[in-house]
Amino acid sequence: FALSPEHPEGRMFQTHAELKDSYDVVIIGAGGHGLAAAYYLARDHGVSNVCVLEKGYIGGGNTGRNTTIIRSNYITPEGVRFYDASVKLWEDLSEDFDLNLFYSKRGHYTLAHTDSDLRTMRWRAEVNKHYGVESELVGPEFIQRELPMMDMSCGGHAPVLGALHHAPGAIARHDAVAWGYGRGADRRGVEIHQKTEVTGISVMSGKVCGVQTSRGFIHTEKVLCAVAGSTPRLLNMVDLQSPIYIHPLQAMVSEPTKPWLNPIIVSGSLHVYISQSARGELVLGASLDPYELHSTRSTLDFTEGLSAHILELFPFLSHVKIVRQWAGIADMTPDFAPIMGKTPVEGFYLDAGWGTWGFKATPVAGKTMAHTVASDSIHPLITEFSLDRFRSYALTGEKGAASVGH
Ligand code: FAD
Repeated sequence: FALSPEHPEGRMFQTHAELKDSYDVVIIGAGGHGLAAAYYLARDHGVSNVCVLEKGYIGGGNTGRNTTIIRSNYITPEGVRFYDASVKLWEDLSEDFDLNLFYSKRGHYTLAHTDSDLRTMRWRAEVNKHYGVESELVGPEFIQRELPMMDMSCGGHAPVLGALHHAPGAIARHDAVAWGYGRGADRRGVEIHQKTEVTGISVMSGKVCGVQTSRGFIHTEKVLCAVAGSTPRLLNMVDLQSPIYIHPLQAMVSEPTKPWLNPIIVSGSLHVYISQSARGELVLGASLDPYELHSTRSTLDFTEGLSAHILELFPFLSHVKIVRQWAGIADMTPDFAPIMGKTPVEGFYLDAGWGTWGFKATPVAGKTMAHTVASDSIHPLITEFSLDRFRSYALTGEKGAASVGH
């Protein structure tokens, strides 16, 4: 970020001492989704009298805790179309921001260990291809050639029979995404207020009229709620209900090793996934913790279980040390698809239900929510993701989502 007359401090975004009395739009949550919506509202719709309120620091929620996997090889038509639009935005994002996001196209393998896994991978590959997404079912010879270091017998008990190979699969530097969107929004007039918690939302005659914060009241007629794992608490403030349930999702990284793993490897049966970051660290994740909990504590049980399964795939890693582990709180939906768009409360827009899959959706979620908020009409890419679908039983069934093995 170069120093310039408009940004003499050379900082990523300005600090505003005071909140204004009113804004055209208030966005709750300065994760990637809230910041991306602010960015596109200002850039694409000319709506810049916007503030983003964050109870902690920007990117401190799931945006800064995820394992950064980006892909579009989902199983439902609405999912594939949506995530494919996101991948296309990701590809130009560093240039768009003039900030290196370390976006790195690696290829993505979802391993099949049983005949039924193979059937699902073939199904996904066909749906993907139908919508123009590069995906194919590959056999063990292909995998062994590309990944000679992998034990194809998986310790002898879960042999790899094939995989869904998705060449566009990628990783990116997650906190840079929050900073890029934050800086871009700030430069277009959006105010970002950290350490500002929303404690209440005022609704009169079914319409939003303001938000109560830890720093005072703000008048507004439009609120976008993008708080991921805190969604049920915010919905309580406007008397809305959703079927979202919260589970911890943990991850860990190893000490850096020399580059040896280019693609991203996922095994739903073993509940593991692994990639190697630009710094050489192995980034490792698993399924959700199997209990509902609003907590970011991490556990030894997770580290032990995940390490054991990773060693089945890559036994030579037994001497590598784990250096950090953490958890985020995942806002899960029963059909593993997000909840986006308008709600029965006029002026209250929802971007939630991102569970284990929302990082990759950051650009497209920002873009489609900005459209929805600016025009008060639902963007065509997100019509199937409405809150109303749970009332009308029009569920999506997105079994291509990650870490939903339980
Ligand atoms: P967040 O980044 O969580 O931002 C919400 C913000 O709202 C937070 O900063 C929070 O402090 C703030 N907030 C909450 N309540 C209030 C309030 N009352 N007032 C003001 N602010 C408030 N997705 C993928 O696509 N690929 C992956 O590889 C992947 N791996 C993951 C691994 C882990 C361990 C975890 C936890 C998640 C993973 N995800 C992944 C999911 C992804 O991280 C999330 O879906 C995504 O980051 C959600 O972004 P967000 O901006 O909606 O939420």
